[in-house]
Formats: sequence, C-alpha cells, structure tokens
Amino acid sequence: MKIGVLALQGAVAEHIKMIEAAGGTGVIVKKTEQLAELDGIIIPGGESTAIGKLMREYGFIDAIRSFHSEGKPVFGTCAGLIILADEIVGNESAHLRLMNMKVQRNAFGRQRESFETELAIKGIDEKVRAVFIRAPLIKEVGPEVDVLSTHNGEIVAARQGSLLAASFHPELTDDYRMHEYFLDMVKEAKSSSV
Ligand code: GLN
Repeated sequence: MKIGVLALQGAVAEHIKMIEAAGGTGVIVKKTEQLAELDGIIIPGGESTAIGKLMREYGFIDAIRSFHSEGKPVFGTCAGLIILADEIVGNESAHLRLMNMKVQRNAFGRQRESFETELAIKGIDEKVRAVFIRAPLIKEVGPEVDVLSTHNGEIVAARQGSLLAASFHPELTDDYRMHEYFLDMVKEAKSSSV
C-alpha cells in the first residue's frame, strides 16, 4: 500500500517513517500528478494557513477532493485536521471542507502550547501516547462523524467514513498504531473498490 504525505510544509519525514514501520510504503508528495499512484494520503501538522495557501496554489484542493471522491482515505493530523474541516471557528473560509466538523485552532491557549498525554482511542486496544503542539480541537461534529477519542471532554480524534482526523502528532512517538489504524482503513477501501 502506497501512502503519500503531503509535503508542502510541515512534519513529513516522521510520517514516512511511521508508515513504513506500520507496513506501508511512504511517498513524499509535492505534485498533484503523484496522487494517481497512491492508495491513501496524510496531511501533516505544520501551519494550516500556510499549508492551505500552498494547496490552493498547487491545485491540491481540487485534486485531494477528487482523490477522496474515488473512495481513497485521507488522514489529517493537527494542522491537517484543520485542513479537512468544513468549518473553522472565527474564519469565514475553510480549506478542503471534507469532514463535517467545526474546529478551533490553537485551542489549548498559550499556557499549554505543547504537552504529551495518553489517550484511549476507539478501535485501538491500549492507550496511545499523544503529543499536542499548538493543537486544534474538534468543537462540533455532524451525525456521520464517529468520535474516536476525547481529552478532558473535548474531541481530539474522529472518523467520517474514509476520513480520519487527529488533533495531536501521531508521528512524534515510536508508537505507530494510529498509522496502522489508517493503513487498515486504506486496506478496507482498496478491497471494497475491487
Ligand atoms: N497551530 C497550527 C495551526 O493552527 C497547528 C499546529 C500543528 O500542526 N502542530 O495551523
């Protein structure tokens, strides 16, 4: 299974490592033409305004929307989660608008710019170590969204069909189970499209 990591800005190399650890092949994606060879794609953490702007410039907004409409899975982590959302608190515009959720950027405030914790995640047996860096939160979700994890009562991971979103950075520990979870979604999507 070939999994791309959108490499316009942000944390790319660590995701590639985790994809490989979970048994997939990681591909650094810089051009829309590369999407044709992929089974799934990860939009990494970084700065969502910068990533969104570059995605527009390079044609990735339409390209990833059509990638998703072919049933191929997309995983957004941290800034990538913001990119997936239908709505961003305090912003009139959003980016991909694929996932029915309203997200808040930098939702933990300055006091807790970054921290680590253990999270229970639906579909993963034991708690996952999660690193939060100027992280967003999911404030509202539509009925088709399955909440996978909460932290202090707030949503930090969710799934909507072939879309997966996490507020934290699953690539910054040595625990690759979130990537394994995504690879399972990709496997599922592949076998149902044949
Ligand atoms: N604060 C960033 C944003 O709003 C996201 C941070 C991250 O990806 N680590 O885009």
